[in-house]
Amino acid sequence: MLNKAQKILEQFFGYSSFRAGQKTVIENLLHGHHTLATMPTGGGKSLCYQIPGLVLDGTALIISPLISLMKDQVDSLLTLGISATYINSSLESKEQIERLKQLKAGAFKFVYVAPERFESYEFIEALQAIKISLIAFDEAHCISQWGHDFRPSYRSIVPNLRKLRQQPVKVALTATATGEVIADIQELLHIHPKHLVNTGFARENLHFHLEKGVNKEDFLLNYVRSHPKESGIIYAPTRKITDRIYQLFVDKGIQTARYHAGLAESERQLAQELFIRDEAPLMVATNAFGMGIDKSNVRYVIHYSLPMNIEAYYQEAGRAGRDGEPSDCYLLFSAQDIQLQKFLIEQSQMNEEKKEREYAKLQDMANYAYTRRCLQRYILDYFGDEKGEENCGRCSNCCQEGELKDLTKEAQMILSCVKRMGERFGVSLTAKVLKGSKNQKVLEFGFQNLSTYNLLPHLTEKDITNRINYLVADGYLSIQDAKFPTLKLTPLAYDVLTGKAEVWVKVKANEAAKDASHN
Ligand code: ADP
Repeated sequence: MLNKAQKILEQFFGYSSFRAGQKTVIENLLHGHHTLATMPTGGGKSLCYQIPGLVLDGTALIISPLISLMKDQVDSLLTLGISATYINSSLESKEQIERLKQLKAGAFKFVYVAPERFESYEFIEALQAIKISLIAFDEAHCISQWGHDFRPSYRSIVPNLRKLRQQPVKVALTATATGEVIADIQELLHIHPKHLVNTGFARENLHFHLEKGVNKEDFLLNYVRSHPKESGIIYAPTRKITDRIYQLFVDKGIQTARYHAGLAESERQLAQELFIRDEAPLMVATNAFGMGIDKSNVRYVIHYSLPMNIEAYYQEAGRAGRDGEPSDCYLLFSAQDIQLQKFLIEQSQMNEEKKEREYAKLQDMANYAYTRRCLQRYILDYFGDEKGEENCGRCSNCCQEGELKDLTKEAQMILSCVKRMGERFGVSLTAKVLKGSKNQKVLEFGFQNLSTYNLLPHLTEKDITNRINYLVADGYLSIQDAKFPTLKLTPLAYDVLTGKAEVWVKVKANEAAKDASHN
């Protein structure tokens, strides 16, 4: 059967060899093993179910929460001469009924549906009448309530599937899943640990960059102007900011598309098409845009502000460079971004427990902005991905020019200050104590009497704050309550305090000069 799969790869799809992971997933499915595939965006997940779908008898069902993607996928299968269709709410009901009839007659090798379809009695009945070759769960992280994009309708497919007389082989595919999401999907779909296929999440063609303290509008204009022929996406945190940035480019006569949930469906559709056809190479959007957009030549993705969590960031940034060509992902960060995201969480409809989790995830995202480690590695560690190299050598932290500085002494001062303050306060008050501030709250708690008071008078409060944030980001300090952040020492901090570990940080040439002038 694997020979047949290889032939299909060559003859139908025109590729000579499988990409990492594809062969194992296909082999598993051909042997009837439920499988979970975690592969990076652009890794070639579609072939993992399309090839077995062609080898096996019957109709393959692909469940996707992305209505916008279905048509593209079906069109590309049709161009290859493969019978395929999609059934979703974008079709008139007459057309839905017609397609269902054809499905029942076994007319399709591939049928794409949205999760809600399984709530329809007629649909389940149609499935009972045919042979199903396999069921694929695309964007499978949406099944899990621990995922960043949980769709309850996705999860309820599982009990609905039990109504089927046949139990075809299932494959779940995702590019963004933490360990707990993977465990959740595995349990739900009864996937044996032997049948987890993980090629790692690393995207070797992506260059991650952090830009702090820049004028964001100026940065965007300069960047877009100096990359005039390239296609890119700018993500903004709110509709209002999206409109503002869009206007900024329109005023400068730059062809720009705009996408957010506040626009009419027809407007969004048009914007998407202009962007995909490269008529408007630049897209300014909220996170409503992009799920399932298969545009391979996006050369850059810029986040105007800190996203809500690493999953969302990696997924959005990952829309750059699907063709494997070098591409850039910028995050423009300022400390107020965190406040905005906190506000958005607070305002949301989530229950308290969920909010707590979101605050914690936001803290991990903020740490990304403060870390001095390799940015790609930071993301991979977040997902528990141990594969790949230690440092990417491409990101702005890896490529940072500057000298390595021993910050052990300063770190010890900060850490012991946190300890002496009883590990009950946040970054800002700790910075004030170290600076020797006469702030009312400092005096109220009597912190002017601590031996760590006024230990770093030569640094500005902002510099001290940055140092603390860095110690949080790289695991010397942890933040306990993400909503009312409280600094706590980690085991690593004790190693630093007892002289068992040193803290070395690469600092920019100008930062080093500033520090030297005070020493
Ligand atoms: P994903 O869903 O994982 O983001 P896709 O399935 O859309 O990725 O595949 C990304 C691109 O890689 C597509 O253009 C696809 O045709 C191409 N591709 C997939 N498998 C192979 C392969 N074995 N060899 C060459 N190109 C491939």
